[in-house]
Amino acid sequence: MTKSMLADASQRLEQALKYAAISEDAIESLKFPQTSLSVSIPVRMDDGSLKVFQGYRVRYDDTRGPGKGGVRYHPNVTMDEVQSLAFWMTFKCAALGLPFGGAKGGITVNPKALSRMELERLSRGYIDAIADFIGPDVDILAPDVYTNSMIMGWMMDQYSIITRHICPAVVTGKPISMGGSVGREAATATGAYYVIQSMLPRFDMTPQTTTVAIQGFGNAGGILAELMFAAGYKVVAVSDSQGGVYAKNGLDIPAVREMKASTRGIRVPYCDRSVCEIDDQDVLTNEDLLKLDVDILIPAALENQITEDNAHDIQAKLIFEVANGPITSAADQILNQKGIYVFPDILVNAGGVTVSYFEWVQNRSGLYWTLDEVNQKLQSRIVEEGDRIWAIARDHDISLRTAAYVHAISRLGEAISAKGTRDYYTNGHGRKG
Ligand code: NAD
Repeated sequence: MTKSMLADASQRLEQALKYAAISEDAIESLKFPQTSLSVSIPVRMDDGSLKVFQGYRVRYDDTRGPGKGGVRYHPNVTMDEVQSLAFWMTFKCAALGLPFGGAKGGITVNPKALSRMELERLSRGYIDAIADFIGPDVDILAPDVYTNSMIMGWMMDQYSIITRHICPAVVTGKPISMGGSVGREAATATGAYYVIQSMLPRFDMTPQTTTVAIQGFGNAGGILAELMFAAGYKVVAVSDSQGGVYAKNGLDIPAVREMKASTRGIRVPYCDRSVCEIDDQDVLTNEDLLKLDVDILIPAALENQITEDNAHDIQAKLIFEVANGPITSAADQILNQKGIYVFPDILVNAGGVTVSYFEWVQNRSGLYWTLDEVNQKLQSRIVEEGDRIWAIARDHDISLRTAAYVHAISRLGEAISAKGTRDYYTNGHGRKG
């Protein structure tokens, strides 16, 4: 039987437990998702037919605060995947010190096959189905793969209709005109960029002499490619779901972005052309992109891209995980043995949830920040937590991933123990009289 994604994700927890001083109660509490909701969403299609879609929302743990996590629209979405993503969110929020637990949602759908009206009905139907399960103090949604600010706007609007009051803080990543935060759209890429910039000097590397390959050219990967290009990195390869392009001397990333954007009609939520259609570049597959001899490899698409089957072929010196879970635990061990530094997803892509937190704070205070304020707060938090993770890895001589989990578990363990530990209950302090 193939191992479930959640079982694979949990293996990271097991490894980190050896180095984190936390109670048995905390360990027991973190083994399973707290609540997993599965819903059927009936949608009236444009041709008059009725189609029922499967949707999910999982709250993995809310000891440190309300659940927080994106909503994914993809044909491969399963409960197992959503549980794994909620697991990662729990540790990501703890690693960054955000006052949130971990959650995630998804709908099994190919959104590119829906019209804009069908997509809106599906998004509103999803909120109808999970409304009792979410809220600004309970569980807060955000964008993920193939969901965007427009969809977040529909979701926030639908929740406000159901609860009969305007409730911007239930969803982050909304349009700015509906209470979204400046800087949220680019936050995942911007956070990853700050992490990369802060780590580079530790390897005596400079942007100008560093080659980069990026898998995934969406919100996270596309914006990051542009930031790195602007900083002088040589981005030699990028790809999307259709495949990739490669140029030995570096791609002109703004031109690639422009080309992709120009094919996205203003009324069409998804592009239907690919970066591979650009002339004058070599075309390569997503598999080949991962194996390129580059300094930095950035998986920024989907999970399970580097497995035990291709880990031996990876040649990059550093990997920054912008996607969630792009490397399996078996592949992790191989990369470790090869001396490749893997900067883990729960740090590298945490810029998105960090600015989502800022958006939630702004919605609740009613006071809105400038882009400089948002980016400065993001940079200081993500670089500071990255430094802590680096120090834990160095002190224990462990991988950066294990160090990130040790860091997160310490915070989670502290919160779980604050509610009472085994020692407290077995020593009789809790009894009256
Ligand atoms: P997106 O929908 O904007 O873009 C996804 C990109 O991946 C697209 O370019 C798509 O063509 C490409 N892609 C899809 N299938 C692929 C495949 N099989 N091979 C190669 N490329 C493929 O999504 P996004 O928001 O950029 O998310 C990408 C990753 O980053 C996901 O793992 C997501 O969970 C993670 N992430 C995103 C955010 C965020 O705020 N957007 C935050 C944290 C983590």
